[in-house]
Amino acid sequence: MGQEETGRVRRRAVLIGGGAAVAGAAALGWDELRRLWWRLPGTEKRRVEGELDHAGAVWTAAARANWRRADRPDDFGIDRVVIHVVQGSYATALRVFKNPGHGAATHYVVGKDGRVAQMIRELDVAFHAGNREMNERSIGIEHEGFVDRPKDFTPAMYAASARLTADICARYGIPIDREHIIGHVEVEGTDHTDPGPHWDWDRYMELVRRAATSPGPSASPASAAAPRPEAG
Ligand SMILES: [Zn+2]
Repeated sequence: MGQEETGRVRRRAVLIGGGAAVAGAAALGWDELRRLWWRLPGTEKRRVEGELDHAGAVWTAAARANWRRADRPDDFGIDRVVIHVVQGSYATALRVFKNPGHGAATHYVVGKDGRVAQMIRELDVAFHAGNREMNERSIGIEHEGFVDRPKDFTPAMYAASARLTADICARYGIPIDREHIIGHVEVEGTDHTDPGPHWDWDRYMELVRRAATSPGPSASPASAAAPRPEAG
């Protein structure tokens, strides 16, 4: 699970704030300044409700309070995938990420049976890593199960997650290695331990590499634009 994002205001935000040169800008929060900046014509991508980034996922929206509107990879580059374990079921993950009081959510949730929910668009910043800079540069994937129950990590879940990660890496040119595909536990400053010692990194990375080299369904948002029913 993630937690509310924390961290210092980044230099980038200062530059954007200065560029916007809004009178009384000091009274506005950095996030508000960034939103103003993006409202200028031509600076924001077209969005379609229910649009997916990963073919094979089902759209079910996270609460608006659990992510921040952005325009990645144009405003923030994406070069990390962060692997999480829910400490609960697939249904639990969807429920808490839909709760605005939770303060956290991942872009994707993968179930033991291999189903994949997309809850936040990849261009937006999900609050999942407990670290503002990491949130801005990463895609978060939550996995059903508990860190101390290795049997929760099923072949179907590994395979579906590996296809998703391979897809993300292909889309943003992210190298398939353990520097760029990391566990929540490896995020600087975190007190979270997921995905835990039973997550089989060797097996997972091999599956991601294999998925990256085998032809699969297209990941183009245009091919997956139709809204899908909510996942249960
Ligand atoms: Zn986590």
